[in-house]
Amino acid sequence: MKNRPIFYSAIISLILVVSISLFWAFGFAKAQGFGGQLRPKIYAVQIENTANGNLSLNIRTDRDFKVNYFSLPNPTPRLVIDIPKVDWKINNNASGQINGIGVVKKIRYADKSDKESRIVLDLSSPAKVISQNIISNINGKILKIEIGATNNDAFAQNTPKTNNVARPLAFPSPISPKYAGKKYVIVIDAGHGANDPGALGYTKGVYEKQVTLASALALRDILKRDPRFTVIMTRENDTFLELEKRIIIARDIRADLFISLHADSAPQANAEGATVYTLSESGGDRSRKLLNRDNWTVVPPNRSRDNNVTEILRDLTQRDTKNQSAIFAENIIRNLRGIGPLTSSSHRRAGFFVLLSPTTPAVLFEMGFITSQKDEARLINPAFRSRQMAAVATSIKEYFDNLQMKNK
Ligand SMILES: [Zn+2]
Repeated sequence: MKNRPIFYSAIISLILVVSISLFWAFGFAKAQGFGGQLRPKIYAVQIENTANGNLSLNIRTDRDFKVNYFSLPNPTPRLVIDIPKVDWKINNNASGQINGIGVVKKIRYADKSDKESRIVLDLSSPAKVISQNIISNINGKILKIEIGATNNDAFAQNTPKTNNVARPLAFPSPISPKYAGKKYVIVIDAGHGANDPGALGYTKGVYEKQVTLASALALRDILKRDPRFTVIMTRENDTFLELEKRIIIARDIRADLFISLHADSAPQANAEGATVYTLSESGGDRSRKLLNRDNWTVVPPNRSRDNNVTEILRDLTQRDTKNQSAIFAENIIRNLRGIGPLTSSSHRRAGFFVLLSPTTPAVLFEMGFITSQKDEARLINPAFRSRQMAAVATSIKEYFDNLQMKNK
């Protein structure tokens, strides 16, 4: 039989394919925790104060794992953190509790099912997960979950719709516009803060961080009168926040809109006017120029992901988000006419870091040039700030009115 070598090689290939598949399937099952051998081990759960006044829940482990969390307001406020089934190595007990600090009264941990384990934080007042970070060192890994105070509204927003449905923290999901009757969550970000003062004003008596906060508070007060809105502030006083944190706040509460307030600076003392920025397709020359002028802005980092699907989804949601952001930006421009001057290209696209939340339409609003005489006089005038922020509030309302009409 002349074809015998081909026959043998076909058999060998088949055996190879089958064994590779079996090996892969087994490895996959193990990695998913079905085999049980590769469950993450938790050696310690501990809570500490952070430098910025929040709390950090530190989970010492040997592997990365996905975290889902949600809040339960009744009968007492709790923050629930669901994790894949782990091996508890804390005193070798499968469940237990640890005393808390600050708003966290107590930390309880236990296995929830044969697939999941759970950590429950008993709270004295509403708190939320602000960010999560994994730190690797020679002793293993520490999953740091930052927890900060939140208001009742935001806390109630984060409850699961049905029991045991938790929100993924690690992977943002595509935009889901909320419909009439449901509250829209708006994040107002007062640019800069604390040791990052931003631009110094024309009269050298006021910093950008002060006018951004004053305007942010004015906008908050206007929006709070509308029952459709839940307003979340990235900062409400002179505190410092990392840029990443500002985005994470918007992403984690699944904000419907994000607005970052800034005041421009220019070498020319007669520079005048407001500008609204949205995210550009790619950080071009203009954003690079901006980067040089104000180190607060950063060109988006290149993200290389091995998961193509995630990448495609991210791209799609960003495209949708960009369109929505542009609509909102145009609203602001229209409503600002008659309130104060606008720069010649009043809607610009740039690679600002705070605009990078892939699921939340976002704009960065430069309210005017704090470094110029006329604009500074306007920006430090509470009456002007109120008028300007009323125009922004109107733009926000129009934005959601249109969204509701489209979804009807
Ligand atoms: Zn700024």
